[in-house]
Amino acid sequence: MNVTWLRQVVMCPYCSFSAEVSNFKLRRAPWKFRFYTVSYLQCLKCGCSFNYYTGTSPGGKRCEFTSRIKPRPTSRRTIKTKDRAVSLITLEKWLKVAQ
Ligand SMILES: [Zn+2]
Repeated sequence: MNVTWLRQVVMCPYCSFSAEVSNFKLRRAPWKFRFYTVSYLQCLKCGCSFNYYTGTSPGGKRCEFTSRIKPRPTSRRTIKTKDRAVSLITLEKWLKVAQ
């Protein structure tokens, strides 16, 4: 697993804000789903969360798509506290674990 997906341009499925993955907030460690790497991202513009899938299919075709997540009744304060704990250093650790 490499970090090139961090430079993928992703578009928010809610407000159409588009930027590189690294410009979105990563809400939890990326995980593998079939041949995809799934990132749980939060849009900095509208604050909505969504899953970003990226990967290469067994046929060699590059795939990426986003999936909306139903909002949960979590207070904004709780989310902010959790987000602060996520830094790029933490991300690098996650990526090493995922290798
Ligand atoms: Zn958005």
